[in-house]
Amino acid sequence: MTQTETTTPVRTATQTAPIGPDDATAARDGGLLARVSHAVGRRIAFRTGDVRPARPILSITFDDFPRSASVEGSRILEAHGVRGTFYVASGLFDRHSDLWTVAGADAVVDLSSRGHEMALHGHAHRPAAAMTAGAFAADLAANRAALRRLVPGRSNESYAYPYGICGLPQKRWLSQTVRASRSVMAGINLGRTDLDFLKSVEISERSLAAVPMEAWLDRLVRDGGWLVLFTHDVCDNPTPYGTTARILEAAVAGALDRDIAIMPVAEALDACGIA
Ligand SMILES: [Zn+2]
Repeated sequence: MTQTETTTPVRTATQTAPIGPDDATAARDGGLLARVSHAVGRRIAFRTGDVRPARPILSITFDDFPRSASVEGSRILEAHGVRGTFYVASGLFDRHSDLWTVAGADAVVDLSSRGHEMALHGHAHRPAAAMTAGAFAADLAANRAALRRLVPGRSNESYAYPYGICGLPQKRWLSQTVRASRSVMAGINLGRTDLDFLKSVEISERSLAAVPMEAWLDRLVRDGGWLVLFTHDVCDNPTPYGTTARILEAAVAGALDRDIAIMPVAEALDACGIA
């Protein structure tokens, strides 16, 4: 669909907020090689799944994740009896930036105990393509170890690319080591789907100005499939990468009104019969 085609690597690199000076530098340092690796990688599927759930599915995901997402985001979901997926960049715990303060390790334990899914977002929150294959594997291993220390018993987590940037060897590694990986390429997952570049739609004012949430939900009901939403902070005056409680609330209520099933990413993969 149109949104898919118009999302370029350059745009995805700036869609997700840098967390601190180091991360902004890392994104720039990726350079031309990283851009090419991303551009090629996003087009090559190492494995696919057939996404045709019996009932349309919505997953709500939070990247990084700011304290406001852990408090306000989870509150809104739980008020409607549903749960979300939180992509954890374990090297960012409690870090402050101009944008927000990242939640601490205690939030991972707490949210998990309340039924939310904790998933991988890189330890250092660096764009995959900006790291060598070896450095990427080490960063992912550190991220996974941190998550499993906090939430024992977890296995086969899914991953979300920081800044939406993949990289060819990194994507190949993910196809062998995680259950699925989420991009920031807008669209609904339906039919033959690249499991290492799942589409997702940003919940933010600027994103929804282009295509309103109601339109996404109506399209999901009409065509079927799996819509993954992502956002960052949840507050009255969100960053351009986040959302107000009102918009998030409307998305959840709008989906439930349409009889769309809301579930974390792992449960959605289960419902689609994807191992
Ligand atoms: Zn992120």
